[in-house]
Amino acid sequence: MVQIQTFVFNPFSENTYLLYDETGETIIIDPGCYDSSEYNELTDFIAKKGLKPVQIINTHAHIDHVLGIAVLKRKYNIPFSLHKLDEPVLKAVVTYAPNYGFNQFEEPAVDHFINEGDVIKWGNSSLTTIFVPGHAPGHIAFINDEQGFVIGGDVLFRMSIGRTDLPGGDHNTLLSSIRNKLFILPDSYTVYAGHMEPTTIGFEKKNNPFFK
Ligand SMILES: [Zn+2]
Ligand SMILES: [Zn+2]
Repeated sequence: MVQIQTFVFNPFSENTYLLYDETGETIIIDPGCYDSSEYNELTDFIAKKGLKPVQIINTHAHIDHVLGIAVLKRKYNIPFSLHKLDEPVLKAVVTYAPNYGFNQFEEPAVDHFINEGDVIKWGNSSLTTIFVPGHAPGHIAFINDEQGFVIGGDVLFRMSIGRTDLPGGDHNTLLSSIRNKLFILPDSYTVYAGHMEPTTIGFEKKNNPFFK
């Protein structure tokens, strides 16, 4: 049984997720911790629960989702994976991080590239990868069919969708990613997004103003 722990980090109020199960192994998704109190909040939780981080995976590489990767990779000696099409997005972060006040941002090396269909395995658990571009060119999301949830990144939010005015963004591509990759999932599936509270596929199909 996968347990999901949410942390809200950095001035962008980004959701960082720990997914762990009864084996104690955990994966870290989109670690956006930046200052020492955020870093300690995450690592203290891991220590208190006796968890063993095994890998970091990202939905995409905008600044708010990548701030904690380098330091966590070093602390736990674990690999970091991303979709190849978001590597340029990651490489760009160091060029604009100081403009947002993140002078200590350290670019992490990508250890593996993840493709659509890839299964992420840890402990007794797994996630299946889908490709959902539009907010970022290499944006992916992770589905767990056993428990009916999606770690969705910045694609679909409660009553909203991801912005598409950043480099590599495209509004129509985003809309078709949501229609063709997310809205085909059962209505009961919970979507854990990159910002704000979780929602469900059924609620968004009915109420999301971008799909009226
Ligand atoms: Zn983003
Ligand atoms: Zn974000």
